[in-house]
Amino acid sequence: MAITVLEVLKKLPRTNCGDCGQQTCLAFATQVIKEGEDLEKCPHLTVTAAGLGEAVKAQQEAGVGRRRESHAISLEVLQAKVAPLDFAALAEGLGATYGEEAGRPYLSLAYFGYCLQVFKDELRYPPGALADPWDAILLYNYIASQGREPVTGRWIAYNSLPNSVSKAKTLARLERQLADHFAGKTAELRERLAQQGGDTVTVGGEDADVQASFLPLPRVPVLLLFWDAEAEEGFAAQAHFLFDASVTTYLDLEAILFLVEHLMERLMG
Ligand code: SF4
Repeated sequence: MAITVLEVLKKLPRTNCGDCGQQTCLAFATQVIKEGEDLEKCPHLTVTAAGLGEAVKAQQEAGVGRRRESHAISLEVLQAKVAPLDFAALAEGLGATYGEEAGRPYLSLAYFGYCLQVFKDELRYPPGALADPWDAILLYNYIASQGREPVTGRWIAYNSLPNSVSKAKTLARLERQLADHFAGKTAELRERLAQQGGDTVTVGGEDADVQASFLPLPRVPVLLLFWDAEAEEGFAAQAHFLFDASVTTYLDLEAILFLVEHLMERLMG
C-alpha cells in the first residue's frame, strides 16, 4: 500500500524547525509524497523516518502519490473556467467577500479557519498559513461551481454520491486511519476537534461517541462521526465522514477527498 503524507509526518521529528526549507514538518511530508521531494532534506530524520527512505524513493520513482503533473493540468483547466466569471456577482453565493487590487478582482474566502484571497490566477495566503499546491485545485473547483445551490442541511455518505464507487475506497481507508489513530483516545479527539474549530453537534438518529461539524469552506459543511473501540465486544473504533447533500455542486469527488485529507492532517498532525 502507498505511503501517505500522514505516515511520513508521524515519523518526522515534528519540531517545525524549518531547516528543510518548509515552514512545518507537515508541509515537508506533503512535498515528499506529492511533489517527489527528497526525504533526506530533513537533517533531523529519526531512525524510523530514515527507515522509510527506500520505500519512499521506490514510491516516488513509480510515480505513486505524486500529483505534480495532474495538478498542473487540472489547475490550468480550472483557472480557464474561472477566468470569465464575474467574481463580484458570485461572492455572496460562495460565502465570500469581493475585493479588487489594482483592478484585479479577488474573493476573500474562509478556508480551514483562515482567510485566503483568491485571484483568478493566484492564491494569496495570510502569514503563517500552511500552503499546499492542491489548495488551488480545491478553491478553483469551489469557485467554478458558482455557488448556485443552497446548502440543504441534509447529511449524506460519500458512497451515495454518483460515480463514487472507486473513490469511496480511498475515503474508507482515510476513515480507518483516523479511527485507528484515535481508538481509546476520545478525549484527545475532542480536544483536537475543538482546536480545529469543530462544533460538537447532535445529529438525530446517530449514536456516535463524538459528532463534530466543520466548515472548511463557507458552503461545504463536513460532519465527523466517531465510535470508540469496545474491546469486550470485539468492536473496533469507527470513523465516518458525512457531507451535505449539495456537496457535489461545490466540489468534485476528488476535491472532496482532498478536503478530508486536509482535515485529517490537522486533526492528527
Ligand atoms: S527539517 Fe525536519 S524537523 Fe525541521 S521542519 Fe523540516 S521536516 Fe520538520
